[in-house]
Amino acid sequence: MQSLVVLGGRDASTYSVLKMIVAKTIPDLRQARSRFGPIAFVPTMGALHAGHLSLIQTARRYARDVVVSIFVNPTQFGPREDLTRYPRPLEEDLDLCRQAGVELVFVPDAGEIYRVGSPNVVVDLPELTQTLEGRHRPGHFQGVCQVVAKLFNIVQPQYACFGTKDFQQLRVIEAMTEALDFPIQIVPCPTVREPDGLAMSSRNRHLSDDERSRALNINRALFAADAEARAGAQVTSKLVATMQRMLLNVGRLGHVPMSIDYVACVDPKTLKLVDTLTAPVTCAIAARVGSTRLIDNLTITPGR
Ligand code: AMP
Repeated sequence: MQSLVVLGGRDASTYSVLKMIVAKTIPDLRQARSRFGPIAFVPTMGALHAGHLSLIQTARRYARDVVVSIFVNPTQFGPREDLTRYPRPLEEDLDLCRQAGVELVFVPDAGEIYRVGSPNVVVDLPELTQTLEGRHRPGHFQGVCQVVAKLFNIVQPQYACFGTKDFQQLRVIEAMTEALDFPIQIVPCPTVREPDGLAMSSRNRHLSDDERSRALNINRALFAADAEARAGAQVTSKLVATMQRMLLNVGRLGHVPMSIDYVACVDPKTLKLVDTLTAPVTCAIAARVGSTRLIDNLTITPGR
């Protein structure tokens, strides 16, 4: 049977025979990490769902010991974004990690990661971050790179798993890892969807039933673009028009507000807009359903 060891703060304990370790501070994390060999790391913001659990399963294929971090990183949220509203069901998350056999969970608070008096550090890859999410969420990827670079230095994994659900984030992290020479293999993991196709997201728990039904237009739009490409469409403007039409198809849900941030077809590596489908193209959508902002994407391979 696995149980819990909490290091740091008032809960510090010596139950070292027990299996899952929860570290709240960097020194505790480092001390616990030193017991392990190669590590596969899964950084998360918590509110764990089957998408996160699939990353943990993939991580296990790469290394015997898996480290998960749960940290709602304030620097990647804009001033008008949902930082305070972001779900934080920590006990449930720790239970899920324990059931998944995770060896070590890092749950720092913001003051542990961003210490008073520490200078601000900006890591940016402007070629990849001024488009799509970065255009609509200024500063978002600087915050993501800042925290992921710090977590990489703290956890020192050999492998790190990231979901294709956030494909721009995955691309930015791959590029940052390469550019800053982190000795870490970035492992891309496929998007896990609900049975009706909705991409799993911690933010889905904010959706009412009607909003959730309306949100299905996002994945339906992506799969419609894929079907159109399979049927021979070559021009991405046609795919974009199809996706926009699908997104705006309200049916009986006209009372649910939905606004589109972007619908785009881009090169999966450079993230530049693509006109014709001669190589794989990633179709990406960001839309707000009610007050919840959702993203999803699908990579289309021509001639499939
Ligand atoms: P988050 O907690 O939203 O920051 O996500 C942590 C990691 O889980 C990121 O690498 C995400 O891309 C990944 N992730 C989130 N949702 C999914 C999903 N539906 N399928 C696969 N991976 C996901």
